Amino acid sequence: MIPAAFTYRRAESVDEALRLLAEHGDDAKLLAGGHSLLPLMKLRLAVPELLVDVAGLRELAFIDDADSAVRIGALTRHHDLANSALLTREVPLLAHAAGTIGDPQVRHRGTLGGSLAHGDAAADLPAVALALDAVLVLRGPDGTREVPAGEFFVDFFETALEPGEILTEIRVPKQTAGWDFQKFTRRAIDWAVVGAAVAGDAVALVNMGATPLRATAVESALAAGASPAEAAEHAADDTSPADEPTASADYRRHLARVLVRRALENSRA
Ligand SMILES: Cc1cc2nc3c(=O)[nH]c(=O)nc-3n(C[C@H](O)[C@H](O)[C@H](O)COP(=O)(O)OP(=O)(O)OC[C@H]3O[C@@H](n4cnc5c(N)ncnc54)[C@H](O)[C@@H]3O)c2cc1C
Repeated sequence: MIPAAFTYRRAESVDEALRLLAEHGDDAKLLAGGHSLLPLMKLRLAVPELLVDVAGLRELAFIDDADSAVRIGALTRHHDLANSALLTREVPLLAHAAGTIGDPQVRHRGTLGGSLAHGDAAADLPAVALALDAVLVLRGPDGTREVPAGEFFVDFFETALEPGEILTEIRVPKQTAGWDFQKFTRRAIDWAVVGAAVAGDAVALVNMGATPLRATAVESALAAGASPAEAAEHAADDTSPADEPTASADYRRHLARVLVRRALENSRA
């Protein structure tokens, strides 16, 4: 449980972080809240030679009104998402889901950007970003590019981030339709066995495959006029949930159907 030796550098700006990443390539890793990266380093599943600490970059910690969207800096912490009056009013699904993550300690350290960049299908905010059609702003040595959440999560812990790039900002359209977020945990602060995020007719799933997923079969059924209960029967279509001693794949498929039905019904109540 002791990480391999590494060098630590605290970046004073995004430009400095980009320069350090460019200089050290695959040997360097960004450190945001550290709540996903440090456990991996302790298990030696991640062995970076250089940690570039960006946690103190105030330029990436903001929540701003931008007409039809809200712009959120990648280093905004879960606690600040959950307690933002702007988000609670304009993107309540994100504010609510952030408030359900882990415990207060995790919410005070963990960041939105870290959660998305980590690309864990069991995390809550990647599925929420999918349901909300968020756009992720990535800065790299060659400039800035925007990637829709639907194209960001590529495979098991793999995202569209290229080496040397930093996720700087997340743009989320303001919500105009009903929403709900459901997750089933074994204990109150646990990660979701399965979760479901609904924003209008968009439905996304937590922990039902290698990546967070849009429940496209549910969305198609809704578009064809199915009731929430009928549409939710398709929640496990095209998914590949893990089969584990604590939760079998069949159990997860059942949970997905139940949670999506609840989320759809609540969002329309
Ligand atoms: C006890 C515990 C319980 C938890 N429970 C939950 C839960 O219920 N639900 C949930 O969703 N999550 C949960 N988490 C995870 C938590 O939300 C993490 O904070 C989050 O997943 C990662 O954010 P971080 O800022 O800590 O990232 P870090 O751990 O610092 O980084 C994670 C990865 O992302 C990269 N990275 C970080 N920021 C950027 C960036 N701006 N650009 C590019 N790459 C970047 C890092 O290099 C690293 O590879 C839990 C964590 C713990 C320890």
